[in-house]
Amino acid sequence: MESKKVRAVRNLRLCSKDCLCLYVCPTGATDTETGQVDFQKCIGCGACAKACPAGAISMVPYQYPKQQVKDEKVMQSLNNIFKSKTDQENIAYKLYEKSSSQIEKQFLKALIRSNRLLAEDTVREAGYMLPQSKNTNAFLKSLLDNNDEDFPKDAVNELLELLECNE
Ligand code: SF4
Ligand code: SF4
Repeated sequence: MESKKVRAVRNLRLCSKDCLCLYVCPTGATDTETGQVDFQKCIGCGACAKACPAGAISMVPYQYPKQQVKDEKVMQSLNNIFKSKTDQENIAYKLYEKSSSQIEKQFLKALIRSNRLLAEDTVREAGYMLPQSKNTNAFLKSLLDNNDEDFPKDAVNELLELLECNE
């Protein structure tokens, strides 16, 4: 079987549920009820991404580029910034909940959002959000230590199988 190079992913925040992707997909891989694209069925043709009026579908590679090697000090700084941004987001969120002023709430909402985006960018730079990085692989493995009976270990094992570490 020819190896697939790209596959479609849907950004649920952008999806406006117009459902065009359902009609153009030749394999029935898009499912707007669950919001998922079935990777087993997706052949990477890109028709859904072209048809989507909301720009909610992106084509992503099966294998991600390797991480750049980062100095220990750089990693430490990125982790410190990440922690500071999440702390600030939490503080802004608590103030938001207490505030009764509309203008103040709007400002705090923007602050929450901006801290979240910066935290996401920073943690990605530190190598945690690239699915095939060593960090992500180690993180997923660490989740298997969770003995809570509701914890979805099967899903974690499946992710470990699908997201082969390429570093
Ligand atoms: S075409 Fe785009 S907006 Fe419409 S359901 Fe599909 S992903 Fe969502
Ligand atoms: S890339 Fe093609 S096969 Fe994959 S979900 Fe989109 S339309 Fe369907």
